[in-house]
Amino acid sequence: MAEQFDGKVALVTGSGNGIGRATALAFAREKARIVVSDIDAEAGEETVRMIQGLGSEAIFVKADVGEESDIRALVEAAVKAYGALDCAVNNAGIEGEVLPIADNPVENWERVLRINLTGVWLSMKYEIRQMLKQGGGAIVNMASIEGLIAFPGASPYVAAKHGVNGITKTAALELMQANIRVNSVCPGFIDTAMVDRIKTPVPELEAVISMSPAGRKGRPDEIAEAVIWLCSDKASFVSGHTLTVDGAYVVQ
Ligand code: NAD
Repeated sequence: MAEQFDGKVALVTGSGNGIGRATALAFAREKARIVVSDIDAEAGEETVRMIQGLGSEAIFVKADVGEESDIRALVEAAVKAYGALDCAVNNAGIEGEVLPIADNPVENWERVLRINLTGVWLSMKYEIRQMLKQGGGAIVNMASIEGLIAFPGASPYVAAKHGVNGITKTAALELMQANIRVNSVCPGFIDTAMVDRIKTPVPELEAVISMSPAGRKGRPDEIAEAVIWLCSDKASFVSGHTLTVDGAYVVQ
């Protein structure tokens, strides 16, 4: 699969860290031109340097995925820099506070929904407008196993990720005739700062992971490879799909 994205333009939100950065680097190895975006400029600029170190091209555009004006400007910047938008990975997300519903502040609910669900919807809205102009494209939205099953204490996150899978399927139906494929990926527990931050009230998380079928967390690059395949022409008849990448967690 060497250099299958040569000359293609790929946008990855939340690519300053974790799964987003691994995805941006995977596109770089395939010689795509990459638009790195994050709310954290320092982290995003570091990803750009890592991409350049692999001999590929990238720009950084700061954007908060929950702000419509930021997303409009992000897609405009991508097209201004590289003339097109072939692949978009809507990855930015937060874990929010883990609390039972009865104790969960509405501010936490609204923040998680704004970034994890509205952020994906807004990103798709402007990416789709550009892809319609060009006559095609591929979008991958980052959901989670929490978009398939529930975890106690994670009601806003679970709601948002179920929503991401729902709007992915809706977009796939709206856009198949327009040569735009839309899929989602549902990672299990992956070794990033996000999982490290989830400390309370689930101190048993590490035990849950070690007792899972894989007995370990996934690596960010194991998610990136699934994203890359969904964006590639090898997945030309795959749209509206929810691809679980979780070391058999949800089937146990
Ligand atoms: P991470 O915290 O390592 O990275 C997330 C990135 O998103 C950070 O660089 C952060 O600055 C950025 N970000 C946060 N809010 C933003 C905003 N409003 N606008 C733009 N960027 C923003 O997390 P990760 O583990 O790499 O998670 C990436 C995605 O994968 C998220 O959508 C997450 O829900 C999903 N996911 C992660 C796991 C896991 O176990 N790590 C499992 C399932 C799904």
